[in-house]
Amino acid sequence: MPAHNILVINCGSSSIKFAVVNQTHAPFALSGEAERLGSPEAVLNWQLAGEKASLKIANGDHRTALTQLLPIVERAAGGTLRGIAHRVVHGGEQFASARRLDADALAAIRALAPLAPLHIPVNLLGIEAAIELFPTLPQVAVFDTAFHQTLPEHAFRYALPEHLYREHGVRRYGFHGTSYRFVSHRAAELSGLSLGDSSWLAAHLGNGCSTCAIVNGQSLDTSMGLTPLEGLVMGSRSGDVDPNLHSHLARTLGWSLEQIEQMLNQDSGLLGLSGLSNDMRSLEQARDQGHAGASLAIEVFCYRLAKSLAAMSCALPQLDGLIFTGGIGENSPLIRSKTVAHLKLLNLALDKPANARTIRGASGPIQAHGHPRVLVVPTNEERQIALDTLALLN
Ligand code: ADP
Repeated sequence: MPAHNILVINCGSSSIKFAVVNQTHAPFALSGEAERLGSPEAVLNWQLAGEKASLKIANGDHRTALTQLLPIVERAAGGTLRGIAHRVVHGGEQFASARRLDADALAAIRALAPLAPLHIPVNLLGIEAAIELFPTLPQVAVFDTAFHQTLPEHAFRYALPEHLYREHGVRRYGFHGTSYRFVSHRAAELSGLSLGDSSWLAAHLGNGCSTCAIVNGQSLDTSMGLTPLEGLVMGSRSGDVDPNLHSHLARTLGWSLEQIEQMLNQDSGLLGLSGLSNDMRSLEQARDQGHAGASLAIEVFCYRLAKSLAAMSCALPQLDGLIFTGGIGENSPLIRSKTVAHLKLLNLALDKPANARTIRGASGPIQAHGHPRVLVVPTNEERQIALDTLALLN
């Protein structure tokens, strides 16, 4: 019997990332992205069997893109498509694992829209179009928050009046859960430890950034909260600020809620601090050329990251290792070394050559001899989503 393929779909407001993931082969049979949907420049880019291709779909929306994708997916899967997996950003308290999409699940996801008003409606758009276009295939939702449903109450509650939690779901949920599940499995494998009997600190550093404490395969704390804005400095998100900042800006500058939200989510983080870019690669280059803003952004990023990891260590009985993942975690020896330099009290130290060479998809240990393990582990959220989906469908 041929191994099964899963089409993994990740809908953003103007984009759809997709991949056909095979149960047994590591490289994706098909991967790509529909970009700038809804605009005259809308385009579908994909890579099939090593060949790159693209198709202009001027003014095409999510549905148009999925319709165009259908024959390409069928070619990639060669008649062995087992199902479709949708990445859904927020699963609230209702979803602690992947779920087959039926009318009840769809209604439950729709009811979560107030928790992620920018993301849930576009996730639903993709799900509804896929159900219409692939009516005979089972469809599954995999949630970014699900892995963190094991947080104990002392970690997930805010110190706010109780009714805000009980009646309105105001609590910490956490995100990047699929990535943390994948890299913690890999870290245990790489170290010859059992995931069910090991304790990890992990940092997922992409455009969004977060940290997580993982004990015996379960998330016990994480830095993101009700929304992905809480916690670390990110590409264009501020991370933690004094909550009174909102009223301060409203009172002193007359800013509206929308202006404040835009500033905290799109104009802050590395971009706001540097005045230059939200992209770490550009900032490292600018720092090398003496750009003061880029240098400051990198210092604040690393200090805040180290502070968050130290805080996460409160949830661990012992430390079996620190995991770096995401575009920055996987590729930046500078950020790893600057962060670890702030964590001497955890006895962490890096081996310089190992840190320098573990980039561009390489994985493995980078700690100095005799110090606690530090691992670089490239994440693969699409593969984890496909594996979760196959486990559910089989
Ligand atoms: P997303 O969260 O969108 O999936 P990624 O995980 O791809 O993002 O991470 C993007 C970030 O990784 C960007 O800030 C990018 O500059 C950074 N990055 C990628 N390669 C390098 C590198 N060689 N050095 C430093 N930063 C890098």
